[in-house]
Formats: sequence, C-alpha cells, structure tokens
Amino acid sequence: MGIEFKKEGNACERCHKLDTDVGKMTHYKNHELDELLCQDCIKEIDDYYSLKCSKCGKPAHLRGNLIEYENEKICTICMDEINMKKIIKEEQKQERKNFMKSNWAKWITFGLTVTGIIVALLAIGI
Ligand SMILES: [Zn+2]
Ligand SMILES: [Zn+2]
Repeated sequence: MGIEFKKEGNACERCHKLDTDVGKMTHYKNHELDELLCQDCIKEIDDYYSLKCSKCGKPAHLRGNLIEYENEKICTICMDEINMKKIIKEEQKQERKNFMKSNWAKWITFGLTVTGIIVALLAIGI
C-alpha cells in the first residue's frame, strides 16, 4: 500500500500536497534549499526572501521577521533601535524635568533662608 501511495504522484515537500491536486512540482534549489515544491510554496519562499526592511534595506530573513511600524515594514533590529531611542529620549525628558524640580527646590530653600535671616535681623534690630 505504501508503494502504491508513492506512485500516485509527487508531493510538495513543504505543504505535502500532491501534484495531481496543485499542479506541477519544481525542484527548488535557491536559498540553500533543495526540495521538490509546488508553485504556491515557491512563491511563498520567494516572497519571503525578497522582503526587505524599509529602514535598513537588509533582507528580512537575515534580521528576523518584519514588524509593521508607522506604515512601514521594518526588521526587529531596527525596531529595537527605535525603541531604544524612545527610551533614551524619555529618560532625557525625565532628567530635564527632575533638574527643573531640584532647581526650584533649591531656589525656594534659598529664598526661605534669606527671608529667615532678614526676619531674624529685623527682630534683633527691633
Ligand atoms: Zn507546497
Ligand atoms: Zn532594518
């Protein structure tokens, strides 16, 4: 029965469909592959390998999968870079805010001290 099944036709090594169902099989030897594949699978593989990150232009398969970001498809590495920049920007903003706050606190303390001294001097004068 096993032999009979094999004689039925060639099956795609990827989706396992038979050439009697999906049509001609092609021996695909691109991208370090060496498989008998149906046209659908070949198209899928070609599409996959032709995808490029719209930011760094590197082929997507070398840089992980593509992520949709602001209407562009970018690789995970570019996404990481964007996230890092965002975090750094956020930190800088936070630092600036803290700096302003600590300055205010300093001026208020200074002001209160000066006022205190003046009040003390006035009290002594009276
Ligand atoms: Zn297939
Ligand atoms: Zn990229």
